[in-house]
Amino acid sequence: MRSIKDWQLVVTKNAVEHGFIWEKGDIDSMLLRLHSEVSEASEAARDEDWNGLAEELADTFIRLANIAEVMGVDLEVEVEKKHDINVSRPSLHGRKRK
Ligand SMILES: [Mg+2]
Repeated sequence: MRSIKDWQLVVTKNAVEHGFIWEKGDIDSMLLRLHSEVSEASEAARDEDWNGLAEELADTFIRLANIAEVMGVDLEVEVEKKHDINVSRPSLHGRKRK
């Protein structure tokens, strides 16, 4: 099974091999593309297209992994750090109370 870092490398290699080459200065555009994958997932869910939802979630992860790789972010490390923070938070933190 591949690690998250392995996925970052594999999807970025594939992107480059298919001519999808971008640089750090293109980050805004790449984040919009990430958002568009989430929107496609939302549309699939709205249509109750569960296979489509699974595919769009995979697209979202692939895009995210590519962005992390190009931006020099080790998602495995960052997810671990952020998860530790989330675990230590109180229940329903940040939720507005009536
Ligand atoms: Mg898609």
